[in-house]
Amino acid sequence: MVKFMENNFIEREHKILNFWQEKKVLEKLKEKNKKGKPWSFLDGPITANNPMGVHHAWGRTYKDLFQRFKAMQGYRLRFQNGFDCQGLWVEVEVEKELGFKNKKDIERFGIENFVQKCKERVHKYSMIQTEQSIRLGMQCDWGEWKTDLTDKDWLKKSHSYYTMSDENNYAIWYFLKKCHQEGLLYKGWDVVPWCPRCGTAISQHEILTEEYKEITHQAVYVKMPLLDEPETYFLVWTTTPWTLPANVFLSVHPELLYAKVADSQSGEMYILLKDKACLVPNHQILEIFPGKKLENKKYKGIFDELPAVQKTLKNYKHNVVLWKEVTAQEGTGIVHSAPGCGQEDFRLGKTLRLPVIDPLNEESCYKEGFDFLTSRFAADPQTKQLIFDNLTKKGLLYKIEDYTHRYPTCWRCKSELLFRLVQEWYLAMAPLRERLIKSAKKINWIPSFCLARELDWLKNMEDWLISKKRYWGLALPIWACECGHIEVIASKEELREKAAQGWQEFEGHSPHRPWIDKVKIQCPKCQKLISRILDVGTPWLDAGIVPFSTISDDNRCENIPYFHNQRKEWQKWFPVQLVCESFPGQFKNWFYVLLVMSQVLEDTPPFKNLLGYALVVDEKGEEMHKSKGNAIWFDEAVEKIGADIMRWMYVTQNPAYNMRFGYNVAKETEKRILTLINCIKFFEAYANTKKFAISHLQFSNILDKWIASRLNSVIQEVTENLEKFDPMKASLALESFWINDLSLWYIRRSRKIFQTPENTPEKENAQKTFYYILITLVKIIAPFMPFLAEDIYQQLKTEKDPASIHLCQWPQARKEFIDKKLENEMQEIRRIVSLALAKRAQAAIGVRQVLQKLKIKSTKCKTEKDLLDLIKEEINVKEIVFDKNLKEEIELDTTITDTLKQEGQMRQLIRYIQSLRKKAALTAQERDIIVLCYTPNNHLAQIFQKNKASLLKTTRCEDFICVEQNIAPTNNAYSSSLNNYGTVLTQQDFVLEGENVWLALIKPNTKQAKP
Ligand SMILES: [Zn+2]
Ligand SMILES: [Zn+2]
Repeated sequence: MVKFMENNFIEREHKILNFWQEKKVLEKLKEKNKKGKPWSFLDGPITANNPMGVHHAWGRTYKDLFQRFKAMQGYRLRFQNGFDCQGLWVEVEVEKELGFKNKKDIERFGIENFVQKCKERVHKYSMIQTEQSIRLGMQCDWGEWKTDLTDKDWLKKSHSYYTMSDENNYAIWYFLKKCHQEGLLYKGWDVVPWCPRCGTAISQHEILTEEYKEITHQAVYVKMPLLDEPETYFLVWTTTPWTLPANVFLSVHPELLYAKVADSQSGEMYILLKDKACLVPNHQILEIFPGKKLENKKYKGIFDELPAVQKTLKNYKHNVVLWKEVTAQEGTGIVHSAPGCGQEDFRLGKTLRLPVIDPLNEESCYKEGFDFLTSRFAADPQTKQLIFDNLTKKGLLYKIEDYTHRYPTCWRCKSELLFRLVQEWYLAMAPLRERLIKSAKKINWIPSFCLARELDWLKNMEDWLISKKRYWGLALPIWACECGHIEVIASKEELREKAAQGWQEFEGHSPHRPWIDKVKIQCPKCQKLISRILDVGTPWLDAGIVPFSTISDDNRCENIPYFHNQRKEWQKWFPVQLVCESFPGQFKNWFYVLLVMSQVLEDTPPFKNLLGYALVVDEKGEEMHKSKGNAIWFDEAVEKIGADIMRWMYVTQNPAYNMRFGYNVAKETEKRILTLINCIKFFEAYANTKKFAISHLQFSNILDKWIASRLNSVIQEVTENLEKFDPMKASLALESFWINDLSLWYIRRSRKIFQTPENTPEKENAQKTFYYILITLVKIIAPFMPFLAEDIYQQLKTEKDPASIHLCQWPQARKEFIDKKLENEMQEIRRIVSLALAKRAQAAIGVRQVLQKLKIKSTKCKTEKDLLDLIKEEINVKEIVFDKNLKEEIELDTTITDTLKQEGQMRQLIRYIQSLRKKAALTAQERDIIVLCYTPNNHLAQIFQKNKASLLKTTRCEDFICVEQNIAPTNNAYSSSLNNYGTVLTQQDFVLEGENVWLALIKPNTKQAKP
């Protein structure tokens, strides 16, 4: 049995984790719900590449919350977690681990060894993430998981899905074959963003806003001589000097005004935008004309002497083309265009059928034929200097200046990207665009702005670049022949049938490089033996296929229903009810690829609801970075804060905004949760007779009636908001209930009833109500804070109740208890109370001073006597009068008569005695207590004596004696006489309205005569 651990969140959580495991709670839950209606959640795979950060725990808390909620409602769930395994993420970390600098190091190490290392890394971190998720309280079907790296079968033993599994890879093959059959797959030349370190293309949707960095480059103005006008140059500006040797043409805007200007000192003439004429010092404008006049002007290339340039251009003469995208803001209005180094240049050149100079190899070094540049790295500052020197020698360098701009970097290794002409594999998106837009609109996107963002992407997306020149990833199932024939293979079986060579070497291996590359097939067109293209696929293919490749009743990865003609089984779970991921980035990534792959395979959206959430930032609102030193790791946070508190931080956050995470925020959250724990402690101290039959509740007083009504309203509110996937509204409703309703009002106002020693029927009914409130409340808290809820439940549950709270049914609101009128009246009463208390504070009269009268203007709360009594008690007034002619909402009579004053003094005295009782740790049952009192003020002593009877009743003491002399132990002369009364339990000096009052609690000596 777990023992309620009060404020030690961490210790509680570790004990409860063991408890869940011992009791096999998840197995029992699955058994209990096995006939329930399926409710399908699809986990977006977490990259198994590093330990979790606190940002991962945000999404995982939501995922667990909704799955626990649905399970308590009786639905059947799969509870399946997913791991993302393949791709550059993992490769780069393994490269770092091995100290590799580039792809050559990998080839030297051997692809087989390298891929093995990648698999091991995934194994290691998926196990670490599993442990971390369990620590967070994630209830998942983890299957068997061991951190033992020598275990060969770990992939099969785990019930989580792994995107590196054979099933997942072959499922993508099936998808790609379908794309091929529909004419979507093609191989195309394009200039793409290229990471020189990773040696691979970066696709458009992988370059997120945060991958653009402020970088200062050297921009250069160069002179390009006109062919038929001596001493005349186009003045051209570029921020990427390394692209100059690849210049093919210049672009100008047809309508902007250009000028020919003369430098009066040198006599040279320049052509540039009229508004940029001031770039030439001492200039004189000779001629102004629109850009279209420059069309087809020929000029001399500034690197035409390079063999590679000559070889490509042959008879072509550099010329000027018109282009409406030229802007007047930057540069000179004359754009240097190198179709081999820029996406727009490439497209423009293609429509004009102009040649392409392709200067860089895979490592972004100049190819053969570029003379002094050959083999030099394009982004190297030294290379740039060589280009500048060369141009200076030729007299073509005009000016160099520093230029700061936002420039894309590699999302994985942060190298600056270059643009390079490459041949890659694409999926055509234009034919799908309209269908995807329609599909996206069928989905419920939360927060609602997510739909607009997704549509924005779908309207602007280009074709999907799916190939990567890398090692650890999906082997693209494309066998391409020199004759032009392309064979796309859909399954392992198809490959076995078509294999002409190498099957034996491949058999028994996962479909990864290098083993898969051994298999050759025969070209059906020309009979040649053909190999697989060496490219691997983008990991987004891996994550996008999971609605098809992972869904099965038992989470085993063999015999996936979708691919084994078990559509019925698969359709129980598809389309899924919910996906939930951090939205920045995913519109172009996971959300997008899920839509695409489902569109191609099933012509339908793959999910019905999407809950997106923003980013985790630090307490100051800054992004967390390891290098900045402000990143918080999950392991540290969870053992410092506790999982429940972390979870509560996440669920009460608005998912639309970035979440500020830190230990101060955690402290604030903890305080609010401690209020709940204090309510439980109060119950244990005063109402814990437990095991009440809560089916036959009777309410003896208005507070019980009200709190039961509030509870059931809150059940409705929480349920509705969880059904709408609004965790913030649901959790805030809960928190407000335990803080504002339960603690600040119900318990405070009911304290007297609970603290009476006699077991009156009213008290018993109140205890039953209190029990009913708590045992129900913890069930609604359970999916949010599973540990604390379990702990409290273990204290409250009866023998007949389920062994764990997570095996309980989600509470249904009991409509017969809901009394909206009462709730509204109570709200009004609490409003009046706060107004009146403010008046008291204004008049500087303490709440213990009873006052005569409160006048109320509103008649809204002119209602039951019980409710008015609450106001009287809370405000401490004798009567309430309704008077609709009041100027203000309320009027508090602050005159203090002698009688009122005496009453106030007595209350104060009673409070002091109660505090002493508490200090002496006396229980309500201990009544044989004598109170000794000494005050030098005789008048006060007389008042005390006069009201002795009621004082004894309230304080549950046997006698109250005012002594005439100061016999306090601090008074040496008299203190010995104190012992005559009995044993002193505690004593203290107080000040009552400026007068000294000494009080002592005495346990009388048994049967001894009082002095
Ligand atoms: Zn890179
Ligand atoms: Zn062929």
